[in-house]
Amino acid sequence: MDNNQAFRDRPINLDEAGNSKRILAKQPEGKWYTRRTVFAWICILFLIFAPIIKINGNPLMLLDIANRKFSLFGNLFFAQDTFIMALIMLVTVVCIVLFTVIYGRLWCGWACPQTIFLEMIYRRIEYLFEGNPRNNLKNKEEDPFFIFRRIGKHLSFIIISFLITNVFLMWFTGPEKLLEIISSPVSENQLGFIFMAGISIFYYVVYAFLREQICTVFCPYGRLQGVLLDSRSISVIYDFKRGEPRGIKNGGDCIDCGQCIAVCPTGIDIKNGSQYECINCTACIDECNSVMKKIKKPGNLIRFDSYNGIETGKRSVFNARTYAYSAVLLILIFILGFTVSNRSTIDVSILRMPGTMCQIIDSTIVSNIYNVKIINKTNKAKHITFKLTDIQQANLEFTNDISLLKEGKTFETVLMIKLPKQKLKGRTTDLKIGIFDNNILISTIAINFIGPQN
Ligand code: SF4
Ligand code: SF4
Repeated sequence: MDNNQAFRDRPINLDEAGNSKRILAKQPEGKWYTRRTVFAWICILFLIFAPIIKINGNPLMLLDIANRKFSLFGNLFFAQDTFIMALIMLVTVVCIVLFTVIYGRLWCGWACPQTIFLEMIYRRIEYLFEGNPRNNLKNKEEDPFFIFRRIGKHLSFIIISFLITNVFLMWFTGPEKLLEIISSPVSENQLGFIFMAGISIFYYVVYAFLREQICTVFCPYGRLQGVLLDSRSISVIYDFKRGEPRGIKNGGDCIDCGQCIAVCPTGIDIKNGSQYECINCTACIDECNSVMKKIKKPGNLIRFDSYNGIETGKRSVFNARTYAYSAVLLILIFILGFTVSNRSTIDVSILRMPGTMCQIIDSTIVSNIYNVKIINKTNKAKHITFKLTDIQQANLEFTNDISLLKEGKTFETVLMIKLPKQKLKGRTTDLKIGIFDNNILISTIAINFIGPQN
């Protein structure tokens, strides 16, 4: 197989026998790399501080699966909020699909934790110990300290992997519980430590050995690109109209210097067109721009554009479709935000006790019995009272004290409603029960009351 066409057959980081080839990418330099570095550190800080920062006493982000309690942007969700969680997941999937159709794999190159950790932390540590292929890659045959450099690199990788594991765990346990696990003796938390060690080893293997193979071989999102992208999608693309025929003497702007390949973290040649291995990291844009500057040609031979934009010569980053899809994206996010922020914090259900009808207490009073379930979805105890809003002379009796509902708890009790006979409107009377939190009406529930048969 012609080596230039090998990319059609197999991932670029695998040889013909299927063995992985190590990719030693040069460190990029340029405005896109600077922007990416700033954005990556914002993401890293968010990852570290999201479970620590509190809004209304709740973590900004917490996925406490063990206690079936989730905090998203300070809003608490419990197992009873499955509907909202399902809605969030559904909207997230639709958003990912829409975002990819418009903006290609921007997520992969800019916000995916795999890329951020690999490019901004692990690879920089590697450059530090073993040199940057851009200028002074240490040659292991000639360098007597190479083995120490490699040991130093791997030790650093292990420490960073352990730290990342702690950050990752904090999203599921919260900082307090994590601190408790870390500070307690291993014998008291064997399962937790085995789990932490397992995840740390996993991260170490991923970042020290598997690296870009996670994006090119394992990641299902990467594999979906062929379905989601079309000729109008924006991605990092080579301007073949301007660049070809490539080569110094052939007339195109591309001088075939190979620098865009040398800097690519997945080792591909962007000049071969859109490939699923391209994570849109923009490293090749920076590198080609610096080559263009040296040969005094206009920049952006590689740039963000669509295939149609290159083909027609009209740059098409923002077009009617981009705006329309972005509007749909924003509307979806708005609906989700509205639903989440307006969801009730106290859920009450009142259902007639199965098999019961009307009880005659005496000649003037009759009663009905109901099962009541109250869920306090906040992180504060609530003082709840029930009152019939349309009949004053009613008597509401609970089998348990419901006045103080503990935070995040579900409470079940039995309610007996006693009514004067003269208030009944035939066989069935519609009633409205007001639910009050600290004497403030928070919701009204409609039920019906069955009277005696005449
Ligand atoms: S860096 Fe630019 S000029 Fe060099 S091979 Fe790549 S596209 Fe061509
Ligand atoms: S082709 Fe360019 S944008 Fe795509 S992964 Fe390689 S360097 Fe990044």
